[in-house]
Amino acid sequence: MTSDTAHLPPVDAIVIGGGVAGLSAAVALGRSRRSVVVVDAGAPRNAPAAHSHNYLTRDGESPLELTRLGRAEALRYGAQIIEGTALSGTRTESGFAISLADGSVVHGRRLLVTTGLTDVLPDIPGLAERWGRDVLHCPYCHGWEVRDRAIGIIGSAMVGHQAQMWRQLTENVTVFAHLAPELTTEDQGRLAARGIEVVDEEIARVDVDDDAIVGVTLSSGRQVRLDALVVGPNFTARADILVSLGLDTVEMVMGDHVLGTYIEADPVGATSVPGVWVAGNVSAPMDTVVAASAAGVRAGAAINGDLIEEDVQAALARATSASY
Ligand SMILES: Cc1cc2nc3c(=O)[nH]c(=O)nc-3n(C[C@H](O)[C@H](O)[C@H](O)COP(=O)(O)OP(=O)(O)OC[C@H]3O[C@@H](n4cnc5c(N)ncnc54)[C@H](O)[C@@H]3O)c2cc1C
Repeated sequence: MTSDTAHLPPVDAIVIGGGVAGLSAAVALGRSRRSVVVVDAGAPRNAPAAHSHNYLTRDGESPLELTRLGRAEALRYGAQIIEGTALSGTRTESGFAISLADGSVVHGRRLLVTTGLTDVLPDIPGLAERWGRDVLHCPYCHGWEVRDRAIGIIGSAMVGHQAQMWRQLTENVTVFAHLAPELTTEDQGRLAARGIEVVDEEIARVDVDDDAIVGVTLSSGRQVRLDALVVGPNFTARADILVSLGLDTVEMVMGDHVLGTYIEADPVGATSVPGVWVAGNVSAPMDTVVAASAAGVRAGAAINGDLIEEDVQAALARATSASY
């Protein structure tokens, strides 16, 4: 691992973001004998959670241990890892120049951005501090751990769907609807049919005791006892580098509601800017760890294929000029 980029020669591929998507790409590229630099700020999206699930053979591993192991695998195949933050990119004659926060610049022929997303949470006192512990969003990631417990769903555009997903895990579900779009009569009937209570009153604060949520206090002062809260965050792509290279985020829409933003790409991660790829949550907000990792491998392989074609064209040009 190095933080000294001053004398780094240009590489085949620069990967910005060393979560599971970026590190999986770095392994695929390294194993194809491509030189790779991974620039990583070291804060994967799931870092607040103690355990990661639904990644076969690694069930329950801590997210930071997953990326530590991923870094070790990437290093084994020659990748260089720079701990730092990339600020912006420019196109050069042979590829890209990426400026880092420490003032250094990394040069490479192709660029893969795997910077993930930011979960923007509802502004409720006490909520953000519990994110990833007992403030949850994904039933597949944390649902089993709170099965049969008292779960509160904080309204969002997804509230009807979320409530039914969590009802699969426990009979004790309460919807707090004040932040949600108005529930239709059909939604209300579906919730009532499954024994899900709906509370319209505003939540004043999240109550915590002994490092665990114990409930919420409503604006009237009434307290509701709960073991965990579920939110529907806004998924905001970490896309500054891509924007600096001319790409724009697009809105992720469900019905009339904007759930977040992402960068559009083709199935192997190629964006509309030649030479720039994306993978993982920056382009697919719903990707879980295993899906983001798979997307990284696909993008790494596509970049290798693109470089092979450039190498073939260069060899053909040399062969042609030598024959004259
Ligand atoms: C609380 C929580 C728990 C979750 N639990 C699970 C689970 O149990 N199972 C599961 O499958 N999924 C889970 N997920 C989803 C999982 O977090 C994502 O699928 C996964 O992190 C996506 O990987 P990624 O590589 O795209 O992005 P990330 O893991 O977010 O990695 C992005 C990396 O890029 C770095 N970065 C960002 N910007 C820059 C920059 N400008 N310069 C340099 N580096 C930068 C970040 O620091 C980070 O290291 C959970 C999500 C949350 C929020």
